[in-house]
Amino acid sequence: TALSEDVDMAVDGVGKSVAVLTSGGDSQGMNSALRAIVRLSLHRGMRVYAVHEGYQGLVDGGEKGMEECSWNSVSNILHKGGTAIGTARCRDFREREGRLRAASNLVKRSIGNLVVIGGDGSLTGASVFKEEWMGLLAELQQEQRITAEEAAKCRFLNIVGLVGSIDNDMCGTDMTIGTDSALHRIIEAVDCLTSTAASHQRSFVLEVMGRHCGYLAQMAAIAGRADWVLIPEKPPEPGWEDVMCQKMQTCCGLGERLSIVIVSEGAVDKENKPITSQYVKKVIETKLGHDTRITVLGHVQRGGKPSAYDRLIACRMGAAAVLVLLQATGEIPPTMIGVQGNYICRIPLMECVEATRNVNRAMQECNFKRAQALRGSSFLRNITVSRRISSCGPRGCGSNPSLNESGNSYRVAIMNVGSPAAGMNSTVRAFVRLMTYSGHTVLGIEEGFEGLLLDRVREMEWHDVSEWASAGGSFLGTNRTSPNEETLPTIAEKVTKHGIQGLLIVGGFDGFESLVTLQKRRSEYPAFQIPLLGIAATVSNNVPGTDCSLGSDTALNTIVSMCDVLRQSANASRKRVFVVQTMGGYCGYLATMAGLAAGADTAYIFEDNFTISDMHKDVARLVGKFKADGIQRGIITRSERCSVNFTSEFMCQLLAEEGRGMFVTESNILGHLQQGDKPSPYDRILGTKYAAHAVDFFMEQMEKLLRTGGGGGGISRAMDPQSACMVGIRGTSMVTTPIQDLIEETDFAHRMPKQQWWMSLRALLHVLARDRNHVFLG
Ligand code: ATP
Repeated sequence: TALSEDVDMAVDGVGKSVAVLTSGGDSQGMNSALRAIVRLSLHRGMRVYAVHEGYQGLVDGGEKGMEECSWNSVSNILHKGGTAIGTARCRDFREREGRLRAASNLVKRSIGNLVVIGGDGSLTGASVFKEEWMGLLAELQQEQRITAEEAAKCRFLNIVGLVGSIDNDMCGTDMTIGTDSALHRIIEAVDCLTSTAASHQRSFVLEVMGRHCGYLAQMAAIAGRADWVLIPEKPPEPGWEDVMCQKMQTCCGLGERLSIVIVSEGAVDKENKPITSQYVKKVIETKLGHDTRITVLGHVQRGGKPSAYDRLIACRMGAAAVLVLLQATGEIPPTMIGVQGNYICRIPLMECVEATRNVNRAMQECNFKRAQALRGSSFLRNITVSRRISSCGPRGCGSNPSLNESGNSYRVAIMNVGSPAAGMNSTVRAFVRLMTYSGHTVLGIEEGFEGLLLDRVREMEWHDVSEWASAGGSFLGTNRTSPNEETLPTIAEKVTKHGIQGLLIVGGFDGFESLVTLQKRRSEYPAFQIPLLGIAATVSNNVPGTDCSLGSDTALNTIVSMCDVLRQSANASRKRVFVVQTMGGYCGYLATMAGLAAGADTAYIFEDNFTISDMHKDVARLVGKFKADGIQRGIITRSERCSVNFTSEFMCQLLAEEGRGMFVTESNILGHLQQGDKPSPYDRILGTKYAAHAVDFFMEQMEKLLRTGGGGGGISRAMDPQSACMVGIRGTSMVTTPIQDLIEETDFAHRMPKQQWWMSLRALLHVLARDRNHVFLG
């Protein structure tokens, strides 16, 4: 079930207590979850206990094992990797006596709620504990280790689990806390290997984590590059060594200077025999004579700062866990919080644990088909997409089959419109390769509509996009110009001249507006009666039809990293308050989400319609925090068009005046830095998935037009609203939405959707920063 994330709706928790622990392997983002759990619980009046060293702290109890938290217990941890309360693998908790002691420690403190952040093992342990709870209480009472009154107060234990694991191996959630950060580390490594290999012709075997799950390896191949991927769930066919080497040789023959094989640590063959990196190296050296090096990333993948995505997802999941516990009026079944698409969901914990175990069991029994089916429908699709885009060339090249599915061939054009956004190149690359793989033609239009007017249109070949996945900006060139009355006739003429049968626009709000114009004018211009599709690509995330636009994750990572640097500079010198101005036009997405991920004190956005009186309260509260809590720094984010008159300078002056003697103030206008350097793994993967969805859209539309075209190869005109869409993630899934429907949903004057999903997170941001209008019950 999707959960409402509006913490303003939360009921009070006065009289309730909750304990939180992190268990199993650590992962980046656990601290963000912890912070959200502690602060939201305190805010709603619950008592919170941090359990140290996983289940060991619960078993040992005492001040060292279980510490009651205050607001400041979780200060200054959001940006740190690992877990601030320690984690462990605890043997004692596997024994009943250990669990008896753990139960006693909870009962003695009247704690009836437990949040466990860990992998499937830790969540299984939590579930076992819950099942035994009544029996444990009875035994403790019988042995007079607790009183009847104490037992009565804790008749039941409510448990919520959050999955903290870099492997992304848990069923029931699309992502686990730490996976995105681990992908950052892996992609940094792949990018580094790519640049060193450009100097020497070499092969690399890169080993990544994933004992039972190939997610990291598979996504690294999509986001970076890989000639071959070996994962646990889909062992290669016997004789794969020859096929792999043949492919590497073909690619080398076509001019590739680098070969990378990515191996999950748990990769196996069809008989469940491990395929090690050493073995892969030996195969390449023996069969191809390549100089081959192994890079084992190991714990590097768990290290470093949590990415913006992990901070946000962990924070949202942590808050959701508290909401579930607050809403419980009695006993609830053990619940897991997961993310599906962009929704935070609650799922029965045991179902997820059971499904995860079934995957592992199926693999142990060499029933790999079942394991793949249990991983979900996107699993095999990701593999297909990854294999196609990393082929040596289109179908018919090397070992690729030579015919496409339908036998038809289409010409679809692609252009970038608006400002450059990270992920544009990955999208173009994937689109070009997936289309040409199947025998279609992709026309690249340089510099948007301006380029089309100047006939800057070229057929894109497989190798034109070889180095595009990891590059920021737009290699195709982009332009903000949208079609207008003057240019429309020529645009129509050029579409016809170049034989364009479909058009994909990858761009920001200008791209969306261009599609609106083309779709609206279809009846006047037959040239526009072709399938039209938009993929949102802008740092601002203000395009209708999707919850996530390409480039905004990269921008968030850049902003959050800068805020981390600012935090450090304040810790090292004088006390400071930073006013950080983000991009986004009128849209407050970046300011809000960066504020949430960086632990800002507040975020000023246009949508909030804030007044001087709000600002005054915020300044007073900030001064209070410096005085009472002894904090070293404050961060305020503001979106660039949040107010005409309350400028960055004005805010700084107000703060400087009110904080005189307490702190100094500094304005940071991040500007184009936010477009980032290389695209984040999230943007690269999302771009590839959008591109694959776009290919399906065009194929479906073309086939439909062919069917209704009266045979003989004739294609009918596209007038149906379904043939002009935006593709995007909405809620749990990736969908295409007709432009016509989106017009209603759009605030054109302010260039953003009328309803923005993330607005419900504003209240959480205020709570976590102890902000205005949020009564503190603790
Ligand atoms: P990772 O994904 O990093 O391996 P994990 O949570 O799966 O994390 P485990 O070592 O499997 O890591 O489990 C962590 C701890 O959870 C164990 O050390 C143990 O204390 C507890 N635990 C796991 N399984 C059980 C169980 N069946 N009964 C009781 N406790 C358990």
